[in-house]
Amino acid sequence: MTELRQAIRDPLELCRELGLNPQELRGQTPGLQTGDRLFKTLVPRSFVKRMQKGNPQDPLLLQVLPSPDESLEQPGFVTDPLQEARFNPLPGLIHKYESRVLLTLSGACAINCRYCFRRHFPYADNSLGAGALQAILDYLKAHPKINEVIFSGGDPLATPDRRLQEIVTQLEALPQIQRLRIHTRLPVVLPSRVDAPLLHWLQATRLKVILVLHINHPQEINNELTTALGQLTSAGITLFNQSVLLRGINDRPEILAELSEKLFAADVLPYYLHAFDPIEGAAHFATDDTQAKNLYAQLLASLPGYLVPKLVREYSDQPSKTPLGW
Ligand SMILES: *Cc1c(COP(=O)(O)O)cnc(C)c1O
Ligand code: SF4
Repeated sequence: MTELRQAIRDPLELCRELGLNPQELRGQTPGLQTGDRLFKTLVPRSFVKRMQKGNPQDPLLLQVLPSPDESLEQPGFVTDPLQEARFNPLPGLIHKYESRVLLTLSGACAINCRYCFRRHFPYADNSLGAGALQAILDYLKAHPKINEVIFSGGDPLATPDRRLQEIVTQLEALPQIQRLRIHTRLPVVLPSRVDAPLLHWLQATRLKVILVLHINHPQEINNELTTALGQLTSAGITLFNQSVLLRGINDRPEILAELSEKLFAADVLPYYLHAFDPIEGAAHFATDDTQAKNLYAQLLASLPGYLVPKLVREYSDQPSKTPLGW
């Protein structure tokens, strides 16, 4: 995609674009470069356009601007907090919960989010070549309780439609598979990804398709995105959203309430609000559980039940995500 090729990959360019002086940012230029070396900067221009110029605290900017804090070591913050390696029986497959599996389609994303819990994931060992896919299909047949396949990543929609369609055709051939779920941030940061070829294969499959978007802040929702979401809804796709609770970005009840309202206006239901995973290099985004539960109580008090996302944390030894503060 041209838009992806034109994305910003240099933190100093991002600052220039927004009229910010790196000398006034935390860590200044060397700090930006430290973070960038640990996890490459990547921000599409369509996302940058939704940021407020001259605001170093812009909630969209804070999600993508490298920080010197990423090199701080914090006790308990590790590279694989969810121990996904334990649930990785085959390359490209994560099977942790009884009825559903994740396929890690590609390590690529259209944006690099600084808080990403997969920033250290060994994608190179998990690419989904032809042999890997056949092994996964055999695995599914041997586990008949699995009825839902989740495309994950990286961002699964970074994979070309032709390849996605091939995989879906193979999955459809297994009668046990009822649902295809796609966890993606791509339509959010590049709404033009929702085009005719994508809509075509999403509509052509016999599987029920669910798209779980990843939007953290109401300012991410603009008209372009709303139009793209409308096309997905018209194609019969169920739309959900998950957010990560991020310190200094969306950890205020009025922001989360506004997010839920804007999501629903675009036909998206809030699904999960993830309490932060202790991921190495991202401790500065963590909120504490007491604060998270308070926030949640305030959301319950101000919104209809269907607009309150489930506040959950992922533990490596539980049979599902664990609700906090019910
Ligand atoms: C979150 C997650 C799922 C999906 O869980 P749901 O509760 O169905 O949304 C599946 N597998 C793994 C490894 C996950 O982390
Ligand atoms: S889009 Fe998702 S997988 Fe990619 S960097 Fe952001 S949070 Fe991580």
